[in-house]
Amino acid sequence: MGVMTTGDKIRRTWPWILGGLAIAIVVMLIPTYLHSQRVAPDTNMILNKLTPEEERVIVHKGTEAPFTGKYDNFYQTGTYVCKQCGAPLFKSHDKFDAGCGWPSFDDAIPGAVIRTPDPDGQRVEITCAKCGAHLGHVFTGEGFTPKDTRYCVNSISMNFIPVAKKVTTETAYFAGGCFWGVEYFLKKAPGVVSARVGYMGGTLKNPTYEEVSDHGTGHAETVEVDFDPTRTTYEDVAKLFFDIHDPTELNRQGPDVGDQYRSAIFYTSDAQKQTAEKLIGILKAKGLKVVTQVVPAGHFWVAETYHQDYYQRTGGEPYCHVYTDRFSDQSQKTPAR
Ligand SMILES: [Zn+2]
Repeated sequence: MGVMTTGDKIRRTWPWILGGLAIAIVVMLIPTYLHSQRVAPDTNMILNKLTPEEERVIVHKGTEAPFTGKYDNFYQTGTYVCKQCGAPLFKSHDKFDAGCGWPSFDDAIPGAVIRTPDPDGQRVEITCAKCGAHLGHVFTGEGFTPKDTRYCVNSISMNFIPVAKKVTTETAYFAGGCFWGVEYFLKKAPGVVSARVGYMGGTLKNPTYEEVSDHGTGHAETVEVDFDPTRTTYEDVAKLFFDIHDPTELNRQGPDVGDQYRSAIFYTSDAQKQTAEKLIGILKAKGLKVVTQVVPAGHFWVAETYHQDYYQRTGGEPYCHVYTDRFSDQSQKTPAR
């Protein structure tokens, strides 16, 4: 090996300098990467990005000011989850008002919260079992509730997921002439969630409007009504049905003639059948020769799109249906709307 010149030295050193620079850049970027991804170092769990104040409490074990948190005076039904990782921590039915200024629970979701005595031995810290987020402290022996425990939690450490309010609807089917008009009135009734027009009571599967109009399929133009039984009753909806068509006309309704325009109630339960028969009895007692059929519901064939919401879309008014109060002078109890 000969004598090394200055030029040789530089040539041999350059790769080392470049390599060192590359390593330095990577090392500098690691914290940026960790911060942007918020990956928990021991579990590789991806965490939600935190605001500086959230980070002060959740990461650096700070405490929010009392009576300032979002969930201090908050009692909706649902689940409180970890702000940092989303793990469910507390249920709303374990929440109580301790008057301390922080959300208080007398129980946690099993396994969701870890208790660790503070180094000073004074208090017991609570953290999220999944990601280690600081939640607050737990106290016992205060006698607030029979469980004698108070999980004192920073609102800022949690998110609240409300229980979705489930609306269980009941379905009813009415036929009373041109389905445009029946749908128009029933859809506007209080407690009615939705209404669709279609065909029921015939034999042909998936009939078209033209096939039903040509007769022979046996279908009646029918309106399917979904209503919320906590806001109205089948009886109220059925009364409205009798009020918006003429139940004494046989196989016609005003200018519309044919069995597809017959008056019919297709019931989906015995209770609906009894209510329908009761209402018909009331009308007959008033001298009305009601011809409305009361028959079990069959398959509801949804009508063509251009028949749905006809008056709503075209802006017209029903030509064949008008509202007539047929029940009001009865002494029977009218449920509150
Ligand atoms: Zn967590």
